[in-house]
Amino acid sequence: MHYSALSLLWQGLKGHKGWGRMWRDPEPKSEYDIIIIGGGGHGLATAYYLAKEHGLKNIAVVEKGYIGGGNVGRNTTIIRSNYMLSPNTHFYEKSMQLWEGLEREFNFNAMVSQRGIINLYHSDAQRDAFARRGNAMRLAGIDAELLSPEELKERVPILDFDNARFPIEGGLCQPRGGTVRHDAVPWGYARGADSRGVDIIQNCEVTNIRIEGGRAVGIDTNRGFIGARKIGMAVAGHTSHIAAMAGIELPVESHVLQAFVSEGIKPLLDTVVTFGAGHFYVSQSDKGGLVFGGDLDGYNSYAQRGNLPMMGHVMAGGMAIMPSIGRIRMLRQWGGIMDMSFDGSPFICKTGIDGLYLNGGWCYGGFKATPASGWCFAHTIARDEPHALNAGFTIDRFKQGRMIDEKGVGPNPWIQ
Ligand SMILES: Cc1cc2nc3c(=O)[nH]c(=O)nc-3n(C[C@H](O)[C@H](O)[C@H](O)COP(=O)(O)OP(=O)(O)OC[C@H]3O[C@@H](n4cnc5c(N)ncnc54)[C@H](O)[C@@H]3O)c2cc1C
Repeated sequence: MHYSALSLLWQGLKGHKGWGRMWRDPEPKSEYDIIIIGGGGHGLATAYYLAKEHGLKNIAVVEKGYIGGGNVGRNTTIIRSNYMLSPNTHFYEKSMQLWEGLEREFNFNAMVSQRGIINLYHSDAQRDAFARRGNAMRLAGIDAELLSPEELKERVPILDFDNARFPIEGGLCQPRGGTVRHDAVPWGYARGADSRGVDIIQNCEVTNIRIEGGRAVGIDTNRGFIGARKIGMAVAGHTSHIAAMAGIELPVESHVLQAFVSEGIKPLLDTVVTFGAGHFYVSQSDKGGLVFGGDLDGYNSYAQRGNLPMMGHVMAGGMAIMPSIGRIRMLRQWGGIMDMSFDGSPFICKTGIDGLYLNGGWCYGGFKATPASGWCFAHTIARDEPHALNAGFTIDRFKQGRMIDEKGVGPNPWIQ
């Protein structure tokens, strides 16, 4: 069914009884050409682009829970392409360009809102570092503006310019950055993939990857064995766990990252702001809640839930730049499991096993990457070779010393 103003009007006249299911609920077949493990944003986007860009048909996405139940529906919805190092810059800019046409392309309202993102700076040295990043972005054709304190004051008046714990001296703005309604993204991709014949199989947990003669031949699941010629892993925070099923050890740790939403308030903030002297990022949703987050928990865990110590830490970050939010009540808090790679950059690559492909290591940046990640992973699986945009995102960069160390934290990903 095509969604349009006319179809909304027509369904309204019929009491909204005629809307069909957004995707089918098929039984798994005994075999597929391609199986994608993980029905998050990246897995669904991969299946969508495999069908749309490469004309492939016999594809399944297997998801242990329900579509959108993972990080894709748990993140703080920020999109941007303000990276500094070359492989990341071009890759995330591709994602931004795909976000810009996505809703029209898959005919689904994902509420892509390019309200801008501003990274605050708090010292002359930080201003210079941000200017360097902004220049690198502009050289790559990406929009970036260095805001003076006066320009910033006009743009975000609720910041504490008089007495902040770390003086706010300006910001680096990417005007095309912004937010996207997170759970609409897997729904849109699922609907687009399903309409091109992809089987989306929910409540289907992969328990083993079968390898025969050095080649991946299928997956064992709680619903039986499913054969495949090619298998793509796109399970975000469970990447090391799934890769271990194929005997692959990855330079990845899993941690909880939490998100917070306040009660709904009148419009206060019309852009995304990030704190440069701590880790706090905030935007205001269309329902009025402030949506914010900060650091991940510093220990490894698969416990997908929030906790009080991190809540206090994140609130302190918020209070350091906008104390006026101190009296707003917090409404909701949740956690998601993220795989943190040791250079803060992802993997989209072949593995050493024929027919087995890896997508992971997304750290804090995986939501904004969703369209480009799916697009590049589909290319890699369909053609058995990477696209130029993901050629650097291999596992062996760690062996070869070609790390893409966006944050310069080396073996301590938890300090990013
Ligand atoms: C609180 C929080 C805030 C964040 N904020 C941002 C942000 O503002 N901007 C940004 O760019 N990124 C952000 N991120 C990161 C981003 O959300 C993730 O990196 C990205 O969503 C991961 O990719 P995904 O969507 O495919 O993951 P998921 O949605 O987690 O998809 C993976 C899927 O694999 C499934 N799976 C796991 N094991 C199995 C199995 N054995 N069998 C079958 N299926 C399996 C899971 O159930 C899950 O649905 C945030 C993350 C969190 C947790």
